[in-house]
Amino acid sequence: MWTGASPRSSARPASPFRRAVAHPAIKNVDVHLTQPGGSRLIVVKVQTDVDGLYGLGCATFTQRHRAVESALRSHIGPLVIGRDVHQIEDIWQTSMVNGYWRNGPVLNNAISGVDMALWDIKGKLAGMPCYELWGGKCRPAAAVYTHADGRDENEVVANARRFMDQGYRFIRCQIGGYAGGAARTPPDDALPGDYFAPREKLHRIPKLFEHLRHELGEEVELLHDVHERLAPIDAVWLAKALEPYRLFFLEDILAPEDIEWFTQVRAVCATPLAMGELFNHPREITPLVAQRLIDFIRVHPSQLGGVTPCLKLANVCAAFGVRTAWHGPGDVSPVGMAANIHMDVACHNFGIQEWATRSALEYDMFPGFAQVRDGYVYPNDQPGWGIDFDAALAARYPCDEENPEWTVSRLPDGTLARP
Ligand code: MG
Repeated sequence: MWTGASPRSSARPASPFRRAVAHPAIKNVDVHLTQPGGSRLIVVKVQTDVDGLYGLGCATFTQRHRAVESALRSHIGPLVIGRDVHQIEDIWQTSMVNGYWRNGPVLNNAISGVDMALWDIKGKLAGMPCYELWGGKCRPAAAVYTHADGRDENEVVANARRFMDQGYRFIRCQIGGYAGGAARTPPDDALPGDYFAPREKLHRIPKLFEHLRHELGEEVELLHDVHERLAPIDAVWLAKALEPYRLFFLEDILAPEDIEWFTQVRAVCATPLAMGELFNHPREITPLVAQRLIDFIRVHPSQLGGVTPCLKLANVCAAFGVRTAWHGPGDVSPVGMAANIHMDVACHNFGIQEWATRSALEYDMFPGFAQVRDGYVYPNDQPGWGIDFDAALAARYPCDEENPEWTVSRLPDGTLARP
């Protein structure tokens, strides 16, 4: 029976395994689907042949949760059972190519669930938090940004002030959600959808940031997410128009399909750029990094295949002066957020961490989950991720099975647009 301390206790225990059990094997890969809030979460629990020793990983692809579940139950789980838990790199590489066709959000999230769980186990076996395995802390905590929205400029200011009063120094400001422009009446016979008018962003967003700087002053750091909702040339125009307001970064100004346009954005302004939540493979993003066309890497770690590829990507970014800003909205599980926070404190080229306020239920379901204090999130000092999972509680909150509606976005004339 493993006798390591739970994430709730404060003393760091000595590992009981270093001599007794050198190489535990994976005994089972449990897949848990739960929906404690708006997002469907997928938590993987890798059980070992040592009683009580397990690891937790995030495999959350909230819009295609059943596909990831199937990939884990039918393919990745059976592939890794029996493997030595220490061989994280080989298990990751084997999982990626075993089906011959590789890469993609479903497979990568399934691989991530196992990958993160194995790092958790390795930390528990070492008696160390994962950040200690990667060289130790570069900082005691990670600065976070949060999201202030509003229907008009004054509501955005009020919401931003509310977060500033709580100690947040970095705030992403949106107006009307990601649309940033009111819907207009579509033509007759237009199909249903989430209608938005992208060109309205071009006058509305610069005005918003002029107002925010006037009302909130120069000290607070402001961010904005375009959510790839502009035509490329309009994206170039917006980045230039926002330059006077000194954003911390402008996020996803272009879609992955249009990344060649980053050269044009760079040519006209020095607005810092963050990119990457839709990428599936580090090789998709390394050209942007190597040509110094972006400033922050913003990938969704489980979408990339877990911590193993993200640590490598972070090191590549460090060589080119690009900082990390791992994706951290509500559809990253608290286990995935724990992995983000451990990378945040251990990577020298950390930039900022996205943070979404979590419910009391999520804190009950994931004991040990980090809290934000005065704009910083702190990892605890327990072995592994320092977080646990109450599977019985999670089972009481099953996932809804509806296809998402917000991703059916449409332009004013009824054309389907990228969400
Ligand atoms: Mg985004």
